[in-house]
Amino acid sequence: MSQLPEISVIVPVFNEEQNLNTLYQRLSASLKACTNAYEILLVDDGSIDRSLHYIKQLSNRDASVKYISFSRNFGHQKAVLAGLNACRGNYAVIIDADLQDPPEIIPELYTKIKTGYRVVVAKRNKRSGETWIKKITAKLFYRLFDNMIDFKIPLDTGDFRIMDRKIINEINDMNNRNIFIRGQIAWLGYDTGFVSYDRDKRHQGNTKYSLSKMIQLALDGIISFSAKPLVLITRLGFFMFFISICIVIYALAVHFIWQKTITGWTSIIIVVSIFSSIQLLSLGIIGEYLARIKNQVQQQAHYVVQESNIIHSRLESHDLQSSKPTKNQY
Ligand code: UDP
Ligand code: MG
Repeated sequence: MSQLPEISVIVPVFNEEQNLNTLYQRLSASLKACTNAYEILLVDDGSIDRSLHYIKQLSNRDASVKYISFSRNFGHQKAVLAGLNACRGNYAVIIDADLQDPPEIIPELYTKIKTGYRVVVAKRNKRSGETWIKKITAKLFYRLFDNMIDFKIPLDTGDFRIMDRKIINEINDMNNRNIFIRGQIAWLGYDTGFVSYDRDKRHQGNTKYSLSKMIQLALDGIISFSAKPLVLITRLGFFMFFISICIVIYALAVHFIWQKTITGWTSIIIVVSIFSSIQLLSLGIIGEYLARIKNQVQQQAHYVVQESNIIHSRLESHDLQSSKPTKNQY
């Protein structure tokens, strides 16, 4: 068997057929500047275009290209997790397939992690080609998240980073059903190095992160690592209780002291709509926690692999015909 790779690069792929060749060329060139012992792990997250076809072509041409193909779209974070489960390198790099994260930064990340960090994060200076809504919501999210957790998360960073084997193993051993990799790494708490870069425009195609996927990711992050939304509900409850006591006193005074009969339609509508929407919101927040507790209790697999050319790995539910590793064959 060949030697273990020094660097594994993990690339989540969802309908990126137009980007794969350029990605492969730029990635290989930058990796060769670091080491000859590398593997590129392309994780096809249930693409419905010809991504898997191109991925297989690349892996037939080049033995350092490995692939994992999911049975359906399980989501970006699950694809990254599968890559971490399967990779064998001393270091792992996570990078997007659309070339927004320039592969040319990898040598810098590698040099920096060698100076003694466990993880080195690529920090975005500028973000080109993204809508202002995306930039503002991302900025707000990181600040909100930072406020809600009791550890430090690097602001304005994605998953583009390099980490060492200890971090890879720790993430693989976490029994967390709601995956938010950058939060999980921050939670581990090791010293983090930074390399800054200008985030490019997407090479080809459109974003694969819909609004609902973004909200899902944000909720997974906050709910997995913070109970503050629940505490806020309690505080809001106390506050609204105080307001309702004032309203009751006012209503009684109007009736018994001033003996005025008021029509009251507007006030009733306002009170009913405010109180009922706050109740629904609170129930919703509790529901989000409940849904994630259900996920955790159910212990469902994170993803299902339908095809891969990786044999020795801790991939979940890997039932490939040609090579037949089982769940326990790590
Ligand atoms: N991606 C994925 N599964 C998804 C959505 C996205 O594997 O369900 C991949 C996608 O192919 C890309 C990376 O995750 O490599 C980041 O997605 P994208 O560039 O669309 O997100 P954005 O940069 O717009 O936030
Ligand atoms: Mg992108």
